Amino acid sequence: MSSSSKNEKNIPESIDYAHLFEGIRNFKANELIPRQEFFEALAHQQNPHTLFIGCSDSRVIPNVVTQTIPGELFVVRNIGNFVPHYLKKSETFLATSAVIEYAVLQLNVDNIVVCGHSNCGGCAALYQEEELKHLPHTKIWLQLAEPVKKIVEEKIAKKKITLEERSEYTEKMNVVEQLRHLMKYPYIRKRVREGKLNVMGWYYNIEEGEIYNYDRKRRRFIRVE
Ligand SMILES: [Zn+2]
Repeated sequence: MSSSSKNEKNIPESIDYAHLFEGIRNFKANELIPRQEFFEALAHQQNPHTLFIGCSDSRVIPNVVTQTIPGELFVVRNIGNFVPHYLKKSETFLATSAVIEYAVLQLNVDNIVVCGHSNCGGCAALYQEEELKHLPHTKIWLQLAEPVKKIVEEKIAKKKITLEERSEYTEKMNVVEQLRHLMKYPYIRKRVREGKLNVMGWYYNIEEGEIYNYDRKRRRFIRVE
């Protein structure tokens, strides 16, 4: 999916579903009909090379930031780009765990990306307990980043980071934490060790339009050039 000019008009301010229907008509006219053969071939099978675990945030669009087309990315997006803990017979957070399982064991993806981003509402919500009172499901979901909150609060207490640095530090540590969760999935760990699967952590800075890739050895996010 390319970021064609049709997407660059103003975002409607009011509730306007006609805008969505117009988009469907434009998709058909500008994408589907001119690339009919491509879409017909896609109709029968998919062979995505990458599982993209991203945030539900409306500004973080996997196909746009990676300039990939339909069929390339298998995507799961949730608040905070979290990875649930691996449990053999889990009854919680099933949607995301099932996507990971299907992508790796059924579709045999080559890569997994966990992509965090700047100005993440999910990460900010970790520090907004009062506001979560009317969002009971969100509150439970955010438990998946509790260890991140603890790490960040300790750093602040020890004056290793400032309060101003808290957001970005939380967002980046959250990616590292979710990578840690991912590596506890036995079938992922096995494939990574065998060199059959590549697991990456990214940080997308929306303002800069830059993506930073986590370097495990240097424990730093390095800008992708
Ligand atoms: Zn977010």
